[in-house]
Amino acid sequence: MKYMRTPQLIGVAVPLLRELRAGVLAASAPADAVRTLREAGFAGGDAVYRAFEQWLGESGYSSPSSAGESAGRAASLSLAEFGERTSRFFHDAGWGDVTFSSDESNGTAALDIAHCWEGEDPATAAVDWPGCHITTGMLAAFFGRIAGYPVAVLETECSAAGNSRCRFQMGNADVMKYKWEEETKSVARRSDAET
Ligand SMILES: [Zn+2]
Repeated sequence: MKYMRTPQLIGVAVPLLRELRAGVLAASAPADAVRTLREAGFAGGDAVYRAFEQWLGESGYSSPSSAGESAGRAASLSLAEFGERTSRFFHDAGWGDVTFSSDESNGTAALDIAHCWEGEDPATAAVDWPGCHITTGMLAAFFGRIAGYPVAVLETECSAAGNSRCRFQMGNADVMKYKWEEETKSVARRSDAET
């Protein structure tokens, strides 16, 4: 019998993931913990992308693109359809209340997650800067598959840091390096103003 190759996703209880995160954060130096969690998220991103493709097909949301099955169903969607379906997919997967938006003028996109499972983790709430490292890594892999080139992800707002949502901005490495430098300068300005 021939089995269809299915995405390797299992339903994992959020408390289990939180316990693992807390363990990594407690056991490692901060930079190592961040890298480990991002790499773990990145490692899972491809399977999440394949599950998204399968979900698009099963939900009747799209037919294979005219470029063929290998290009993926996501490639056949308009940007508005893609945003709407991505938001619903991540919401249904338990990530939180998700909104996708894009800024074509500078080639970036943003994913906002209210009630993000990771941002509302008490272990994350102990810090005052963005801390959703697993989500950051996963989104980089997921959107990299769709874009067809490496996508850099920067979390610029985080519920753990007191924002009303987590905001992940995405673009190619050059654009995001510029954004990162702007963000770093703005954080430095804010902390100067506070002292
Ligand atoms: Zn966050």
